[in-house]
Amino acid sequence: MILVFLGPPGAGKGTQAKILEDRFGYRQISTGDMLRKHRADKTALGLEAQSYMDAGKLVPDDLVIRMVEAELANADNIIVDGFPRTIPQADAFDAVLARKGLDAVAVIFDVDYNVLAERITGRWSNPRTGRVYHAKFNPPKQAGIDDEDGGPLVQRPDDAADVVTKRLVEYDEKTTPLIAHYEKRGDFVHVNGLGEIDDVTRAIIAKLPDVGKPIVSTS
Ligand code: AMP
Repeated sequence: MILVFLGPPGAGKGTQAKILEDRFGYRQISTGDMLRKHRADKTALGLEAQSYMDAGKLVPDDLVIRMVEAELANADNIIVDGFPRTIPQADAFDAVLARKGLDAVAVIFDVDYNVLAERITGRWSNPRTGRVYHAKFNPPKQAGIDDEDGGPLVQRPDDAADVVTKRLVEYDEKTTPLIAHYEKRGDFVHVNGLGEIDDVTRAIIAKLPDVGKPIVSTS
């Protein structure tokens, strides 16, 4: 199964993707994590993307599509988190899936924008794995330290309140049209992203029972 996680920054997409990855063997493809890795490695793509990311803007479609295409060579049983984020990205993704005879289901995270600021500004993440914590709602065992690899957690510079506002404007303008795109095709579910972490996972599985079945590898 291919899941497209759609929702604004702070909706819980990355948290849920990691849970489904750990429990059921999905592979999370997070374009945000990939871009941060490119930046850290100072690749040409990372250097080009960084001014957009710092400003809370979307990185141009051609860069993102090129970056993701290689990852989609093996596209089954993936969760795309933070991609597609524009109609041209969705069209490019649809074309890849059509070539492979695969379908995607959109999981749309419904959230109230008022809670997002608190969720995002309390966020700490592991830059090595992308695992996300929250100082209040989902704290690590030891503050600032990842439970799994014992390395330091960081706060993302673009999680600062002024940049978050710009990211939400980008989301409204460029990404919300994707909700209608997937609703029109009929393969979508809505989940309430405001619940407790476990409740959101349960809601995803309740609406998409196949998600909770073990993945049988075909490769
Ligand atoms: P995220 O971690 O998903 O919140 O992404 C962080 C930043 O990376 C975004 O604010 C954008 O600048 C950039 N980014 C991530 N995914 C995409 C995408 N699919 N299209 C364009 N820019 C993206």
